[in-house]
Amino acid sequence: MKVTFLGTGTSQGIPVIGSNHPVCLSKDPRDKRLRVSVLIEWNGFSCVIDCGPDFRYQMLRAKCKRVDVILFTHEHSDHVLGLDDIRPFYFKQGDIPLYAHKRVLKSLKKRFDYITKTKHKYPGAPSVILNRIKNKPFKLHTIHVMPIEGLHGDLQVFGYRFNDFAYLTDMKSVSDEEIDKLKGVKVLVVNALRKEAHHSHFTLEEALSFIDIVKPKTAYLTHISHVLGFHNEVEKILPEHVFLAYDELEITI
Ligand SMILES: [Zn+2]
Repeated sequence: MKVTFLGTGTSQGIPVIGSNHPVCLSKDPRDKRLRVSVLIEWNGFSCVIDCGPDFRYQMLRAKCKRVDVILFTHEHSDHVLGLDDIRPFYFKQGDIPLYAHKRVLKSLKKRFDYITKTKHKYPGAPSVILNRIKNKPFKLHTIHVMPIEGLHGDLQVFGYRFNDFAYLTDMKSVSDEEIDKLKGVKVLVVNALRKEAHHSHFTLEEALSFIDIVKPKTAYLTHISHVLGFHNEVEKILPEHVFLAYDELEITI
């Protein structure tokens, strides 16, 4: 299984528009972060998690030729706004399957009615197949994907486990039962916004304690704000098995 980090930034991305913050001005490519998303590929199947406003550029940058399915974690704009740009995939492949919680599907229907409706469509509008996820495993190609439920402030969000790999973003709390489902995972990705407290995101410290509980072999942090600091400096203070993810990083599991 190959995982490509398409974006590792928080909702505004890094650099933030108009910002003179030193991290926004950094020349290190690892300090440039598009909105959060990953591409997961196995046995010729490709799955994207979330489809934010940078989706088009992320697909071009990763030279992605095919998207078999898109899973959504939740409906916030930084995770859904690129949906119109599935068009090139739709033209080649036909209707694109989307998987999400029923509340997220409802939100997609409202925001992208011209994509989700089935009658009187504008010619050229893409079409999708909406698949509702409940909090139980579902099959994608050859893998049973396990949803991991958490809270993003008050909002329910799904993370996903694919055998030895798990991807959780926009979490602020995860119950013990849900943490149990992560037992034995080898590679864990989890969000770490910044050092200061936030109402709906793990801080760096909270993400590290979460990693301590789950005990993966390796962990990567994502959904990072510019105020967390320079990639190079933050990496130095992390435990040996924990890394900051960065855009275009590829890992094989
Ligand atoms: Zn987000």
